[in-house]
Amino acid sequence: MGKIRIGISTCLLGENVRYNGGNALDRFLRDTLGKYVEYVPVCPEVECGFGIPRETFRLMGDPKQPRLVTSNTGVDHTDRIEAWARKRVSELENEDFCGFIFKSDSPSSGMERVKVYDHNGVPRKVGVGIFARIFMEHFPLIPVEEDGRFHDPILRENFIDRIFIFKCYREIMDDKILIRSLVDFHMRNKLLLMAHSPKHLKQMGYLVAHSGELSKSELIRQYEKLLMESMALKPSTAKHTNVLHHVIGYFKKNLSADEKQELLEVIDEYRRGLIPLIVPVTLMNHYVRKYDESYLKQQTYLNPYPLELQLRNHV
Ligand code: SF4
Repeated sequence: MGKIRIGISTCLLGENVRYNGGNALDRFLRDTLGKYVEYVPVCPEVECGFGIPRETFRLMGDPKQPRLVTSNTGVDHTDRIEAWARKRVSELENEDFCGFIFKSDSPSSGMERVKVYDHNGVPRKVGVGIFARIFMEHFPLIPVEEDGRFHDPILRENFIDRIFIFKCYREIMDDKILIRSLVDFHMRNKLLLMAHSPKHLKQMGYLVAHSGELSKSELIRQYEKLLMESMALKPSTAKHTNVLHHVIGYFKKNLSADEKQELLEVIDEYRRGLIPLIVPVTLMNHYVRKYDESYLKQQTYLNPYPLELQLRNHV
């Protein structure tokens, strides 16, 4: 797999582009996730021509269409930054992004819960930064996340799952034998998709089975929409437990009574929140190797991405 290209708010990489000449370095994003992705930094305020240092901005007025104004002098720069943002997102179409990580709380880059001030100067955390809003409107299927939310292991894992699967999907789109590749992609990711949304998995399975009835472009459009919608839904303990029980079905003829009992006990301990998901997944992988289960060997769900990212490790 080639490098996964991810857009990111520039200050999160430690670049001194903030209003006060400082940065908002996030070491996990730069040093850990950064080993597996290629970042494309975007700083709306600097790229739009505001200097460093500069007066701070705030969002004001209607939370759905807020104005971007300077905090002390009250100058309205909304039209300027919106015009720049629309041009910039068009340019970003060529970047082949699989995701974007925004700086939280920023009136330009914040993805959600950004303060919007009413005309009495009272803030409510209900806004979206101007650039972030225009980006998400332009690329509704691209996975997005904010720096602060990476401390939540479930949200972090969900974002990482989504960018990796989006990258895999992009790669098969380049394949000339599309249908065969799509069938293979769907097969390898079945358990992962099941962990996110069994309902979407069913719809995608139907689409793949009837792929000959659609034009290539319509097939891609429908499959991609379902894929990204399903991956945006967070897996839960109940959904993971369902997948793990489903996996047992693949080698129930091979497992001894003791082995099956051990697996069921470990799954139940996971379900009760006593151990992380990686424990039953590791045990499953042991039996996949022992019994040479070829279908399960290929499942991305059982082989989560680089160990260092510690996916499936939280309780
Ligand atoms: S939050 Fe956005 S606009 Fe502000 S410094 Fe960071 S990248 Fe630039």
